[in-house]
Amino acid sequence: EAYIAAIEAANDTLNAYVAVTADQARAMAKASDQRLAEGKAGALEGIPLGVKDLFATRDVRTQACSHVLDGFKPKYESTVTQNLWDAGAVMLGKLNMDEFAMGSSNESSYDGPVVNPWKANGSDEKLVPGGSSGGSAAAVAAQLCAGATATDTGGSIRQPAAFTGTVGIKPTYGRCSRFGIVAYASSLDQAGPIARDMRDAAIMLKTMASVDPKDTTSVDMPVPDYEAALGQSLKGMKIGIPKEYRVDGMPGEIEKLWADGMAWLKDAGAEIVDISLPHTKYALPAYYIVAPAEASSNLARYDGVRYGLRVDGKDIADMYEKTRAAGFGAEVKRRIMVGTYVLSAGYYDAYYLKAQKVRTLIKRDFEQAFAAGVDVILTPATPSSAFAIGDKELAADPVKMYLQDVFTITVNLAGLPGLSVPAGLDAKGLPLGLQLIGKPFEEETLFKAGHAME
Ligand code: GLN
Repeated sequence: EAYIAAIEAANDTLNAYVAVTADQARAMAKASDQRLAEGKAGALEGIPLGVKDLFATRDVRTQACSHVLDGFKPKYESTVTQNLWDAGAVMLGKLNMDEFAMGSSNESSYDGPVVNPWKANGSDEKLVPGGSSGGSAAAVAAQLCAGATATDTGGSIRQPAAFTGTVGIKPTYGRCSRFGIVAYASSLDQAGPIARDMRDAAIMLKTMASVDPKDTTSVDMPVPDYEAALGQSLKGMKIGIPKEYRVDGMPGEIEKLWADGMAWLKDAGAEIVDISLPHTKYALPAYYIVAPAEASSNLARYDGVRYGLRVDGKDIADMYEKTRAAGFGAEVKRRIMVGTYVLSAGYYDAYYLKAQKVRTLIKRDFEQAFAAGVDVILTPATPSSAFAIGDKELAADPVKMYLQDVFTITVNLAGLPGLSVPAGLDAKGLPLGLQLIGKPFEEETLFKAGHAME
């Protein structure tokens, strides 16, 4: 009831929730009370959570914050959310996001932008919460849920976590099932939690992760007790500092934050070593070929027949065209066009195939660093703190917005786990984050190091 009241009081301002399922939440909470009374409590019994609108939730709005999915209520549940409900968690509602998870500011949502609960010192300007999981991050930061599900294709968990002073982890590709998550770029998409602290994130991920016969890319590996990793010593841990992440024009504040992070890890017993990831500079261009290519294929299914919106036309082809023209927003259309172009005959080899080769080189960079003895890599999470809603420079040039992902995208291309750790405030009083990158399926090591930085 306290969370429902908090959402009612704050959501008109923040726009973090696009649907509040209060009746369902009350019913789920009642069932939790029953199980608690019977001594049958699950790991998340009675914990109220928010769900990104990208996760299919049975009989509840699932629209990826796109007009094209208007009115879509699936008859099935995503595996990740089902795992949470099976552990006793309670769903408060669906959370705002960039349309189809394409964006870094939550401004491409058909449901309108989300307002970051943080404000710069002495300013009333409305700031973005980051994206695409902007509703998840804002809801957790404003305490409108105890934790939230999110997804990350190029940084969509880690960047919003950094912009709101929350903890977000993108696990290794394959750790969580993608079944029932609206697909953006299937070879990059992963689910993960956004939570208030390391412990909450560790507990949530443990429940979200599972092998799933409905997603053949999910991996059959034991899911460790991540919470048990918290508080362990970092003695003997080697932290790599990649020189290529010292990008041109990096603000002094971010440099300082990074140095602070190194000092905290050193104090906790870790050793800091310089490393090189030479193909880093090709990550953004490779991502913005691979991700739109996969998106153009995944989004072909929204044709006015199977889901959501239909705009009638004089024949079926005209109906498809009108539905897609009306249903997709500008950023989604841009990605579909880029993706279709790079996959078309004559360009496939020059763009798509080349990007796939670059992706392999980026992955090898990480493999070599880990083979040389590095356990974890430390980088900034974002090149800046939260910016203003409607920032003219970013709105005018999509490539500038794409630069938001410069530190996070390599991790998706390589399939590795990445954790965003709240690391302090900038001179304006806004949160900043650091990123820890780990070896495949070593999320535990990230939680251990992240906890030492809290
Ligand atoms: N900002 C990136 C994009 O727009 C990443 C989004 C994501 O991780 N879903 O594609």
